[in-house]
Amino acid sequence: MSKFQYAEMPNKEGFFGDFGGQEIPPELKVIMDEINDAYEEIRQKPEFQEELDLLFADYVGRPSPIYHAKRLSEKLGGAQIYLKREDLNHTGAHKINHCLGEALLAKYMGKTKVIAETGAGQHGVALATACALVGIPCEIHMGQVDIEKEHPNVTKMKILGCTLVPVTRGTATLKDAVDSAFDEYLKDPVNYIYAIGSVVGPHPFPKMVRDFQSIIGTEAREQFQTKTNSLPDYITACVGGGSNAMGLFTAFLGDEEVNIVGVEPAGKGLDTDQHSATLTLGKPGMIHGMKCYVLEDENGEPMPVHSIASGLDYPGVGPQHSYLKELGRVQYETASDQECLDAFMTLSQVEGIIPALESSHAVAWAMRKAATLSKDQTILVNLSGRGDKDADYVADKLGL
Ligand SMILES: *Cc1c(COP(=O)(O)O)cnc(C)c1O
Repeated sequence: MSKFQYAEMPNKEGFFGDFGGQEIPPELKVIMDEINDAYEEIRQKPEFQEELDLLFADYVGRPSPIYHAKRLSEKLGGAQIYLKREDLNHTGAHKINHCLGEALLAKYMGKTKVIAETGAGQHGVALATACALVGIPCEIHMGQVDIEKEHPNVTKMKILGCTLVPVTRGTATLKDAVDSAFDEYLKDPVNYIYAIGSVVGPHPFPKMVRDFQSIIGTEAREQFQTKTNSLPDYITACVGGGSNAMGLFTAFLGDEEVNIVGVEPAGKGLDTDQHSATLTLGKPGMIHGMKCYVLEDENGEPMPVHSIASGLDYPGVGPQHSYLKELGRVQYETASDQECLDAFMTLSQVEGIIPALESSHAVAWAMRKAATLSKDQTILVNLSGRGDKDADYVADKLGL
């Protein structure tokens, strides 16, 4: 498949091969199509692109650097590991890239409120930040159980001025927060917009979120070439819904010599029911308005999933990842909770960089792989976020 064909994805109906689309009621389809039309029009406008570029530069701090982790590479004795430092972004992760895009789009579309759910609160904080900046009201739905677990993020969202709606129905966790946020959205979908937190959901969200995140790979490809005069042998990123991974991968899809690897959480083991390895062990199905790989039980219900990294425990995955797996263009591997903790500690102590537990999955795979490669080979890892949010948890877990 040529560069051009990858860039053409998805088709007009939002399909990546057989995956994606709009598995939603007709009245909602009309609204999603309106969002798509508005997006296609607005993103061509120079003033939209200029405003977004300026915010990326002066507000987020882009371009984020690429860093050659020499001490880590030396310790492993194999390939050279490079890190794309999305952890240095304002708010500490890649999520701000698409949240700014979505908030700006909402403003250009004249929407009066941005609505979303959040699990651990990462998406909520990034979106509340973007909405504060753009000057648009923001309403975040969050399960009561999660609210009690995630104090720092809850506090931040309140300080940032968003309306936080505690959800007590069902198990009072992420799935119920999605339902609650969606109910609110359906009250006035003409004036409200639902801001999805990854490359998932009905068309056009997998495309839009990918487009906003693709700045990561566009920068990284150029930075890497400037630094080394070549392209990396491997690029890798962790995959929950798959937004930071699509962000890195998109610019490299047409480079056949670059091996692309997505890393899913093996949790407590692929042979247990406590993992979140959707592409590795799931099968094609339907969830949240799209066709994609899904981890389902025998009744077709999404399975409870687990990862030490709360940002990765999702039983579906982006439709473009599902298609890239089928095409064989991207390989999907896994890293366990334990490997992830080891990578978290190693990167912290060898390089002085505390990674998010999500990102630690990609670091863990890179460490495993680097040891099998030669010193003149290279691996570029997307360090999707920083680990401040995970420090207390890890310290507790390891008895530090
Ligand atoms: C939310 C999050 C992820 C997972 O989301 P994707 O859509 O799979 O990228 C990964 N890393 C960090 C730091 C996150 O906050």
